[in-house]
Amino acid sequence: MVTFYNRATPNFSSTYYTMSSLRFRMVEAAINRKPFAAKVPEGRPSEYFGKKVFNRAAMRRYLHKKTYEAMLDTMDNGTPLSREIAAEVASGMKQWAMDQGATHYTHWFQPLTGGTAEKHDAFLEHDGAGGMLEEFSGKLLIQQEPDASSFPNGGIRNTFEARGYSAWDATSPAFIVDTTLCIPTIFIAYTGEALDYKLPLLRSISAVGQAALDVCHYFDPEVKRVTTFLGWEQEYFLVDEGLWAARPDLVLTGRTLMGHESAKNQQLEDHYFGAIPDRVIEFMKDLERESLQLGIPVKTRHNEAAPNQFEVAPIYEEMNLANDHNQLLLILMEKVARRHSFRVLLHEKPFKGINGSGKHNNWSLGTDTGVNLLSPGKTPQANLQFVTFIANIIAAVYRHNGALKASVSTATNVHRLGANEAPPAIISVFLGKQVSATFEKIAESQSEDAIVFDSKTGFKMQGIPSIPELLMDNTDRNRTSPFAFTGNRFEFRAVGSLTNCASAMITLNAAVAEQLAVFKERVDARIAEGFSTEKAIFEEVKILINESRPILFDGNGYSDEWKAEAARRGLDCETSVPLIFDRLLSDSTRKMFNRTGVLNDIELKARTDVNWDMYTKKIQIEARVMGDLALNQIVPIASQYEAMLLDKVYKMSQLNLDTTQDIALIKEISTLTADIQQMVNEMIEARKVANRIVGERAKAIAYHDTVADYLEKIRTCIDRLEMIIDDQMWTLPKYRELLFLR
Ligand code: ADP
Ligand code: MG
Repeated sequence: MVTFYNRATPNFSSTYYTMSSLRFRMVEAAINRKPFAAKVPEGRPSEYFGKKVFNRAAMRRYLHKKTYEAMLDTMDNGTPLSREIAAEVASGMKQWAMDQGATHYTHWFQPLTGGTAEKHDAFLEHDGAGGMLEEFSGKLLIQQEPDASSFPNGGIRNTFEARGYSAWDATSPAFIVDTTLCIPTIFIAYTGEALDYKLPLLRSISAVGQAALDVCHYFDPEVKRVTTFLGWEQEYFLVDEGLWAARPDLVLTGRTLMGHESAKNQQLEDHYFGAIPDRVIEFMKDLERESLQLGIPVKTRHNEAAPNQFEVAPIYEEMNLANDHNQLLLILMEKVARRHSFRVLLHEKPFKGINGSGKHNNWSLGTDTGVNLLSPGKTPQANLQFVTFIANIIAAVYRHNGALKASVSTATNVHRLGANEAPPAIISVFLGKQVSATFEKIAESQSEDAIVFDSKTGFKMQGIPSIPELLMDNTDRNRTSPFAFTGNRFEFRAVGSLTNCASAMITLNAAVAEQLAVFKERVDARIAEGFSTEKAIFEEVKILINESRPILFDGNGYSDEWKAEAARRGLDCETSVPLIFDRLLSDSTRKMFNRTGVLNDIELKARTDVNWDMYTKKIQIEARVMGDLALNQIVPIASQYEAMLLDKVYKMSQLNLDTTQDIALIKEISTLTADIQQMVNEMIEARKVANRIVGERAKAIAYHDTVADYLEKIRTCIDRLEMIIDDQMWTLPKYRELLFLR
């Protein structure tokens, strides 16, 4: 056993040793904690994959043939289910769930707070003869009314005095967590407005699918469906549970509001892809087993750049399912972490001075004929299709770069975006050398010499090298780009680790859907004027490439030059989160969401109000925690140490010893504590003023402009105190103790 706190103690002050002993006890416990062996799974992953999911295999076993086929038709083609069929599905689902040991069921939905919501009900009903029986009707499967008045709704329900209800999303399979059958649902107001992430996500998937299908038909009339894919990469931190518990800031805000940087952090770059610590490996094994049982196809695990930082990534899936799986994984992570005496930190920036966590969203479109629309093809035709989609996506990102930024902006992600290791708070697109070169050629070419028509092979693009060959070594991946083309998909890297992927994906899907629809109108108009299809497409692609040049950037996104350059190019450079949210209500954003049917004005306004409100509340909580910790822990410790020094100086001066250094130290402590006290008081006053402001937007702006800055300023003083005060007295576990798991 390692013991820290038995150091021989001088006797002039004994009280502070009890004050800091919690910290030392927790450090000691963390060091002595043994890996907790993961449960050994039964069989191979391929055998237990999806065991807890009411998937097609389970449906085939538990549903009548007719019901099963109706379900497949609903899942594959979106055909509505009749009440009778739903009742039969409910009955089969209940039987399956009970056979797996489930006793309860819940409608599982994704409110705008982030996270997921669930209310469990037992299957039990009276049997009418004094006993009970297990019951689960089609009615309960299809629709419920969770008492949801406390979920944020941006005033929608107050305005309409309507309650919300949750409705079954039959396209995402039900699953069992512990002993509860979870049924993925949308959450909606009685007046029809979405109160969640899932419904707009489904609408956006359908909008982009349809718009992409229409454009696909220029190239292949046989295509019947375009699917949107998402592969997320989830970054997270783990900290020892005992140390976490001794940090009220981590417990209450998810990040450390104070803490001096450790002397060693990530500068040696020895954590990334390094050996995974034993305790963490066991956590990962358990997490993977549970994820696979729930049908989440997790594949990749590794250390990330910062100490204690890790990543988990699945194989990409259809977007609605992928997003449910990400939300489910976040729940699993927290549960499994506790079994291993860890806490998982999903905050985008839990620690100052080391990397934060993101959730890279790998996005692509694919056809039912097996073509990835973002992969260059083998024929000129396929290449024109590839170029068409890439050009439209870039144009969409350009036109809506402000809205896309708003879709990933939160009070927590702002600590990461714009900081020096994550994508900057400006959206730009990285294409890589080969695609950029191809685009340059297209932009400069005269269509007459660029396209040669051949009666047998259709057409050829002259002077444009065959793209697939060039892409073979498309390895120049720009790590600083928020939106990067990575060979066969775009990777949206600005998404926060805590955020629901849907927020960003809804906006991206809608933007691309709108752009593709506009593109099709224009191409059709040219065809009507007598252009050939290929020529019409080529001309429009050329215009798009030329128009969206300002969004293309292959350089270093962290540099100050880029910030100045981006502003000159007219890209959105706003850094104040409450003002970034204004982009959601701009004319062009509203038109995009309305026209694609993804969000109407009421929904958009409500969501933006929720965003502002969440921003205010997060800063408010951080400010309160900061105030409490500063006044109740930091200043008292500093004062005690100061008193000890004063005592020492007094005694030394009796002996005519030199006290210069000690007096300088006393003065510094005294200045720092006075500054802290003053700033905390000012911050409280600023909060009081902000709290009286009516209107979500104005309040959020006040919190941003007059409160948030204090957090950093107070922290600077506290972090300095941490460096000069006796380590034995410091109560909060330090960075060097929280990080560096072994
Ligand atoms: P990285 O090098 O960025 O870590 P990975 O190879 O680990 O990339 O893949 C990251 C994610 O991208 C994974 O979830 C993977 O399944 C996903 N992905 C791969 N191809 C596609 C695609 N065509 N569409 C969407 N996601 C994809
Ligand atoms: Mg990646």
